[in-house]
Amino acid sequence: MPIPSNARVVIIGGGISGCSVAYHLAKAGWKDIVLLERKQLTCGTTWHAAGLIGQLRGSLNMTRLAKYSADLYTKLEAETGIATGMRQTGSITVALTEARREEIYRSAALARAFDVDVNEVSPAEVKALYPHLNVGDVLGAVHLPLDGQCDPGNIALALAKGARMMGAEVIEGVKVTKVSDDGQRVTGVSYDIDGEPGTITCDHVVNCGGMWGRDLAAQSGVTLPLHAAEHFYLVTEPIAGLGRLPVLRVPDECAYYKEDAGKMMLGAFEPKAKPWGMSGIPEDFCFDSLPEDFDHFEPILGMAMNRMPMFEQAGIHTFFNGPESFTPDDRYYLGEAPELQNYWVAAGYNSVGIVSSGGAGMALAHWMTEGEPPFDLWEVDIRRAQPFQRNRRYLKDRVTETLGLLYADHYPYRQVATARGIRRTPLHEKLKARGAVFGEVAGWERANWFAQDTQTREYRYSWGRQNWFDNQRAEHMAVREGVGLFDMTSFGKIRVEGRDACAFLQRICANDIDVASGRIVYTQMLNRRGGIECDLTVTRLSETVFYLVVPGATLQRDLAWLRRHLRDEFAVITDVTAGESVLCLMGPDARDVLARVTPSALDNDAFPFGTAQQIELGMGLARAHRVTYVGELGWELYVSTDQTVHVFDALMKAAPEITLCGLHALDSCRIEKGFRHFGHDITDEDHVLEAGLGFAVKTGKGDFLGRDAVLRKREAGLERRMVQFLLQEPEAMVYHNEPILRDGRIIGIVTSGNYGHYLGGSVALGYVPCAGESAAEMLASTYEIDIAGRRVAAKPSLTPLYDAKSMRMKM
Ligand SMILES: Cc1cc2nc3c(=O)[nH]c(=O)nc-3n(C[C@H](O)[C@H](O)[C@H](O)COP(=O)(O)OP(=O)(O)OC[C@H]3O[C@@H](n4cnc5c(N)ncnc54)[C@H](O)[C@@H]3O)c2cc1C
Repeated sequence: MPIPSNARVVIIGGGISGCSVAYHLAKAGWKDIVLLERKQLTCGTTWHAAGLIGQLRGSLNMTRLAKYSADLYTKLEAETGIATGMRQTGSITVALTEARREEIYRSAALARAFDVDVNEVSPAEVKALYPHLNVGDVLGAVHLPLDGQCDPGNIALALAKGARMMGAEVIEGVKVTKVSDDGQRVTGVSYDIDGEPGTITCDHVVNCGGMWGRDLAAQSGVTLPLHAAEHFYLVTEPIAGLGRLPVLRVPDECAYYKEDAGKMMLGAFEPKAKPWGMSGIPEDFCFDSLPEDFDHFEPILGMAMNRMPMFEQAGIHTFFNGPESFTPDDRYYLGEAPELQNYWVAAGYNSVGIVSSGGAGMALAHWMTEGEPPFDLWEVDIRRAQPFQRNRRYLKDRVTETLGLLYADHYPYRQVATARGIRRTPLHEKLKARGAVFGEVAGWERANWFAQDTQTREYRYSWGRQNWFDNQRAEHMAVREGVGLFDMTSFGKIRVEGRDACAFLQRICANDIDVASGRIVYTQMLNRRGGIECDLTVTRLSETVFYLVVPGATLQRDLAWLRRHLRDEFAVITDVTAGESVLCLMGPDARDVLARVTPSALDNDAFPFGTAQQIELGMGLARAHRVTYVGELGWELYVSTDQTVHVFDALMKAAPEITLCGLHALDSCRIEKGFRHFGHDITDEDHVLEAGLGFAVKTGKGDFLGRDAVLRKREAGLERRMVQFLLQEPEAMVYHNEPILRDGRIIGIVTSGNYGHYLGGSVALGYVPCAGESAAEMLASTYEIDIAGRRVAAKPSLTPLYDAKSMRMKM
C-alpha cells in the first residue's frame, strides 16, 4: 500500500487503542487519517488479552466510558462483518471479606447511579448462577447481567475495518522512528519500512504505542510514564459439562475466571508483579509471549483449586504470560501532552485496555475535534504525569505493586508502598521525628496525620473510621480552637512576569487580578464553556510579577494551560515550586504565635485578609500570605527552601503549643467550610456559577476566557448547584462517589467527602439539579446519601455549615 506523504493525523500503533482512535476520528468526520503499525495489527498486547468487558469502575466517568465500550462492542459485528466474539455473559464479583463486600456494594451503588444494570446477590444466588463455585465463605456478590467477554484481537480488527470503511488508511509493517516538531507543535513523523526511511507531514500524532509508547514519547520530550509487567493466565483443556458461565472475579484471591468454548481461563492479579522490558521492548516483538513461571502463578492456582475443585482435575492447555503496560497510579493516559502541541496519547492501559479503549477512543476523538474532552477526564489526563516519573527505575519499582492493586481492596486513603520518597520537603525528617505518617501525591511525601508516641505509624485501612480518626480530630480541633501548622510545600508555585503579565492573566482568569501589589486574588481559569480548568490564588508581587499557587497535583496541567494560552504577549512563565516551602499557620491563635517570631504588625489594619507581605521571621525572611483553606485566621508562610528549617525551628521554639497537622485535617477543615477541591468538586465540566464560585468571577472587568459562558448561564439560570450536606448519623463515613438521593430518587453523586469533626458528622459536597427552581424549593426536599446500599439522611445547605459568614478568617 502506498504511504501518503501528508496526513491530518498519524496514529502510531495498531493495537486496540490505535484502532479505536482511528475509528472514532473517522466517525467524527476526520479525513486523511493514517494509522501506522510497525508489524501487524494487534501483535503487541491486544492479541492475547483475556477479553473481559466489565463496566464496574471506580468513578462515574470511567464507568461511563466502560459502558460506552460495552455498548459499542455489541454492535461492531453487525457494522463490520467481523466476528467479535462479544457475548453478554454477565459477570459476578464475589466478596470473601466484610471490607470487600462494602467496596463492591459501594461500586454497585455508583454504577446504578449511571444506569448500569447491577444487582447485589446472595451466596445462594451466586451458586445458582455459577454452580461450580465453592460459596461457603462468600459474604456477598454483585451481578452485572450486561457485562461481557469478547475476542479482543477481533474487536481491534473490527474497529480497524470500521475506520477503513470510513476512509482511514491503516497500514501495517511501518515503524514510526521519530515524531518531528517545530519546537512548539507536531509537524510530522519519520518512519521506516523494511529499512527504507520516509516521512509524512501531519498536524497531529496520537501515540498509541502501548509499551513502546514511553520511549517514543521521550524522544519528543513528552513524559509518558509506563512500564511493562508480566501478566499471567492459564487455559484448561475442555471440561465436560461446563455450560455457559458468566465472567467471575474473586478479587480476594487475586483471580478472574472466564469460560470460553468449554474451557476455563484463570487469570491472576498477584500482589507482587514482575516488571519486564527494563532495557526497552525488543524490536522484533510480534505476537510473542514470555516464559512461563509456574512458581509465580502457583499460589493463585492453589486458591482456584479450592474455589473451583474442577481445576484439580482439569488438564492445562495453555499457560500464558504476556507483557502489558502499567502506570504509576493504575490509570491510563489520554489527552494532549503538555510539552508539545498536537501530540496526543492513548496508552498505558493497566490490563483494562480492551474494556477501556472503546470509550477512550471516543473521548479522545471528541477532545481532538472540539479542543476539549466530552466530560471531566482528569483522572486519566496525561497532564497529571510528573516529569520525574520518566525515571525507569522508579517505574520498574512501582509496577511491581500496581498490577496487584487492581484486585486489592480499594480502601479510602490507601497509599502506595513502592517507589516512595522521591520528592521531600526540607521538613521531612523533622516531621517524621514528630510522628508524621506520610502519603504521596505527585511524588511528594506529605504528612497526612501525626501519630502519638504510643501509636504505630502506619495506616490500618477500613471503610469505617480508620486508626487515625482521633488524630485527625485532635489536629482539626487544634486548628478550630488553637493553632495548627501544615507543611504545604507541595503546592505548585508559578511565577508569571513581564511587561504583559497582567494583561495576559486578566485574559485567562475569571477574577480581576489587576489589583494593587501585595493583594491576593482567589480565581479560576475557565474554558469557553465556563468550566473550571484551574483553581488558584494569584498574588501580585509588583507591577509586572505575579505569583500563582495551585494544587501540587495539577501543576503540570496549570503550566500547560498557561503556556497554551500565551499569545504574543511578553510574559515569562516559570515553575518555581522547588524554590519555596509553604508553612500554613492556622487557627484563632495564629496571630499571637506569629507575633512571637516577627516584629511586623499583624493586626487587621496593618495586615488585612487577602494580602501578602514580606516579614522578618526568626532570623530569616518569609512572604506571609493572609489566606486560608481551612476557614480560620492564619497565614501561609512562603519561605525560601534554604531557610525553611530555621523558620520551622523558630516557630516551634517560640510556640511549643503549635499542633502539627496533616493533610487529612486540612481536608476535613476545608470541607466543613465548603471550600471546593479541584479534580473532585470542580472540574472542567463544572460551570463556575453552578459550582457556587460566582463571587470570584468579575464579568465587569472586560473580556476573559469563559466570560460569554458566564453571561449565558446568568441569563439562562442554573441547571444545578453545588450543595453541602451534613450526614445525620455520626458513624456514617462518606468519601467520594456515593449516590445522592432527593426524595428517594438518585440525582447525583458525592464529589468529595470527609468527616466534619467540629460539626460532628460526615460532610459531603455534590451537585443537585435545580433547573427552574428557587434555592428554597431545592432545599425543601428530603436528601439521603447511599452508602453501600444503605440510605443515610443528609441535611443540605447552600451556605457553609461552618462559619457561614466567614467571620473567623477575618478576625
Ligand atoms: C494476559 C493479559 C490479559 C488481559 N486481559 C484483559 C481483559 O480481559 N480485558 C481488558 O480490558 N484488557 C485486558 N488486557 C489488557 C489489554 O490487552 C491491553 O490493555 C491492550 O491490549 C492495550 O492495547 P494498546 O493498543 O494500548 O497496546 P498494544 O496492543 O500493545 O498496541 C500497541 C501497538 O503499537 C505498535 N507500535 C509500537 N511502537 C510503534 C511504532 N514506533 N510505530 C508503529 N507501531 C508501533 C505495536 O506494534 C503494537 O501493535 C490483558 C492484558 C494481558 C497481558
